[in-house]
Amino acid sequence: MSSPDKVIALDVAIIGGGSAGMALAARLEQVSAVVFEPKTPAERDCSWALWARPEQLQALSPAVTGRWDRWRLIDDCGEVIHHSGEFCYTSLSAERYLQHCEDSLNDSVSLVRAPVESLIPEQGGGQINAAGQAYTASTIYDSRPSKSADNSLCQHFIGWEIITTEPIDNADIATLMDFRVDQSRGLHFIYVLPYSDRHLLVESTMISNQPEEKDWYRHAISQWLADRNIQIQSQLREEYGVISMAAVKPSTTTIAQIGAAGGSVRLSSGYAFSTIQTQMAALADTISAGERKVPAAFSRRLVFMDKVFNRALNARPDHGVTVFMAMAKSLNGEQFARFMLGHAGLGEWAKVIMAMPKWPFIVAALRQVFSHD
Ligand SMILES: Cc1cc2nc3c(=O)[nH]c(=O)nc-3n(C[C@H](O)[C@H](O)[C@H](O)COP(=O)(O)OP(=O)(O)OC[C@H]3O[C@@H](n4cnc5c(N)ncnc54)[C@H](O)[C@@H]3O)c2cc1C
Repeated sequence: MSSPDKVIALDVAIIGGGSAGMALAARLEQVSAVVFEPKTPAERDCSWALWARPEQLQALSPAVTGRWDRWRLIDDCGEVIHHSGEFCYTSLSAERYLQHCEDSLNDSVSLVRAPVESLIPEQGGGQINAAGQAYTASTIYDSRPSKSADNSLCQHFIGWEIITTEPIDNADIATLMDFRVDQSRGLHFIYVLPYSDRHLLVESTMISNQPEEKDWYRHAISQWLADRNIQIQSQLREEYGVISMAAVKPSTTTIAQIGAAGGSVRLSSGYAFSTIQTQMAALADTISAGERKVPAAFSRRLVFMDKVFNRALNARPDHGVTVFMAMAKSLNGEQFARFMLGHAGLGEWAKVIMAMPKWPFIVAALRQVFSHD
């Protein structure tokens, strides 16, 4: 790269080398581009999961930590187990995925391991300063996390990756939601990914308007393990996350936002990884064609339905367990995976709607229509 006193001119600048920034950067060809990211992949390690088809697994294989063709939801009344021959619930190491993207960068794309310190927008591009160097870019994509409104619905969790002293039962099934835990502070479930019969990721996850003290989730995990007589031999790592389930407000600048900041998080589930992959692949094609517009992450109908879902959940969190269990019961494995990916057809939507308690959703839909939100 040239000396610091010269301004470096780029076609594309990407602010933030997380899931979206690196997925885009790794696909860019024949444009000069820089990704600005202050943290190393190891500093951003966590588990990212998605429902993946076999053809997607090929591209993600360097980062895959586990795959399950069966998954389940459990409450006090029983369990729903889904099986799919088409989709695998797949978990990835964020560190390995980001490192793989870094290793795949084209010669014309580089990574600057530093935060963007200032940004002066100008017609979709602008000037950036980072690590004492000035850059101009014709197009800038910004994935820095945007601040969510206080007290809005969010999914918040702590996960422990552990080795157990004894093998666990059902190590071939991913547990997406086990609701047999304290529900007094909001919709709460335990999420379990068994990488083997003694190596697990166990997360305590809440959907509510306010994150809890960290020890609250830790206690919930310990209690869930103790109730099943599962003892920890060693704890490998802990991950903490808060994912906003509120619609993001469009940025006031002319700079395009991508990733979670650009509205790629599915509002009703907090899943984003798969959508980001599809959207960034489409954006890379758009850039190759000489355009710059970011394709929409979701259809307007899906965003509306998700907002109605969240309104209903927010108004009656005590219905949450019933709603998720009824949704799982109404669909088979393939349909459930498509639904979670945001690819459900009208038939699948009809099944889910028929399974829902009617009045809370009718009220939520009417409120959503008249809120102009
Ligand atoms: C712990 C956790 C687990 C998740 N698990 C899943 C999952 O299992 N499945 C799923 O579908 N979704 C999951 N999500 C949701 C979503 O997929 C992730 O949040 C995903 O990382 C979003 O990608 P992104 O690129 O928008 O944001 P990020 O990956 O957060 O990237 C934004 C980047 O911007 C960088 N940045 C910040 N400030 C600056 C600056 N000034 N200059 C330059 N860079 C800056 C940050 O360091 C960061 O790397 C999870 C989220 C979290 C937090």
